[in-house]
Amino acid sequence: MDFKEIHSKQKSFFNSNQTKDVGFRIEQLKKVKAILKANEPLLYEAIYADFGKSEYETYLTELSLLYHEINIFIKKTRKWSRKKRVATGITNFPARSYIIPEPLGTTLVIGAWNYPYQLSLLPAVTAMAAGNTVILKPSELPSRTSEIMAKLINENFPEEYLHVVEGGVKETSTILEFPFDKIFFTGSIPVGKIVYQAAAKTLTPVTLELGGKSHTFVLPGCNLKTTARRIVWAKFLNAGQTCVAPDYVLVDKSIEHEFIEALKNEINKQHPESGTLRENYLQIINTKNFDRLTALIDDEKVCYGGQTEKNKRIIHPTVMHNVSFDDKVMDDEIFGPILPVISFTSLDEAIAKVKERSKPLSCYIYTNNKKTVKRLLRELSFGGGAVNDSIMHLSNSNLPFGGVGFSGIGSYHGKAGFDTFTHYKSILDKPCWFEPPMKYLPYTNGKLNLIKKLLG
Ligand code: NAD
Repeated sequence: MDFKEIHSKQKSFFNSNQTKDVGFRIEQLKKVKAILKANEPLLYEAIYADFGKSEYETYLTELSLLYHEINIFIKKTRKWSRKKRVATGITNFPARSYIIPEPLGTTLVIGAWNYPYQLSLLPAVTAMAAGNTVILKPSELPSRTSEIMAKLINENFPEEYLHVVEGGVKETSTILEFPFDKIFFTGSIPVGKIVYQAAAKTLTPVTLELGGKSHTFVLPGCNLKTTARRIVWAKFLNAGQTCVAPDYVLVDKSIEHEFIEALKNEINKQHPESGTLRENYLQIINTKNFDRLTALIDDEKVCYGGQTEKNKRIIHPTVMHNVSFDDKVMDDEIFGPILPVISFTSLDEAIAKVKERSKPLSCYIYTNNKKTVKRLLRELSFGGGAVNDSIMHLSNSNLPFGGVGFSGIGSYHGKAGFDTFTHYKSILDKPCWFEPPMKYLPYTNGKLNLIKKLLG
């Protein structure tokens, strides 16, 4: 495939100004939605082939969010694209000042594999809403979903506007050599660094949606049953292959035993047949990840689950207790169905330990003690999170979604996404009928006194 030609065609198309027309953008967004709706069975088939994900979960965790955001863009793009008047101030009287939202230009979206539709198509439609052209590179690991996205998009959209390129490291490295106006990357921290370095060569602005070890506090004063229910759902959804999954739990020692019992009860209810492919329980994406995950399971610390089926790449929901920060499972983001539980007797010490580590993408706090919630929200830095819930913050488009520090740079969803793909151009617009002499030579004491009086 000639990337150079596609990139150059997109540059020319962007320069034709067609994407700046808001009517055009809205029409294209409606078209994306209609194509996805009309081809849902193909989307379900592909994702099931890739990692056994059911229609229910695909709709719930991928398509519904995508449709929801497209609907928001269709409704709000006109308003968000309008130039906005702002105050001018006395220095420039009698001018007008305004901000013009303008698209950045040609954009590159690189997707991760774990929610292949949402993580590729959502940034792409966001870029389109803001008036950009898009080259989309989905993850190559789930090959069928990458293939179906390429087919549906490339058969229905001209390549100078929206185009899917398939491929892995080699292809992505080649595309990254081209000067884009924006790169939006979702994936791991090591590859995020590669993308950031490549973008630096052309000073291309970058959004990095990365991961991290998202901690979950379970504290006295929480509703243990609901806490366990919500954590179990969030952790084992997608078999733990979720960037905002609760990576590990920090539980107050005084409620550790009841909490672990509540977890076990919930797993029994939610995943009674977690080893059967036809149920809503996923495979691990590939053998490499399966082997990486199974090596993290310390049999002596498993208090629930621990069974694995290599031929099906299934790891049953697993809970490990008596875990310490020095255990291997605590080194990197787990990204699989293993939940380590660390108990603590001093919240101060637990907070100090968390602060020693990189800032994660999410934090979840389970307690009804408002004072403790306030303290944790004030003291800990992380991308976003929830109080008495996990994961669900990302379903609210009014909440910008993104990381901080090692968990990412920038954010998207709703207006935050529109802003991510927009440059806000500031304009001072001055008439010629009034020309105060103060800024011009000769500088006199009289003028200086007047300026000082006016400007304070
Ligand atoms: P990954 O970094 O391996 O791959 C992401 C993309 O980068 C893929 O499209 C891949 O083809 C490409 N890529 C891989 N190696 C490359 C290289 N050397 N040079 C150029 N491109 C390369 O990530 P992944 O395994 O697909 O996803 C898992 C990670 O992504 C986890 O850390 C998870 O937390 C994170 N993630 C973050 C979010 C978020 O929204 N913040 C969402 C999903 C996943």
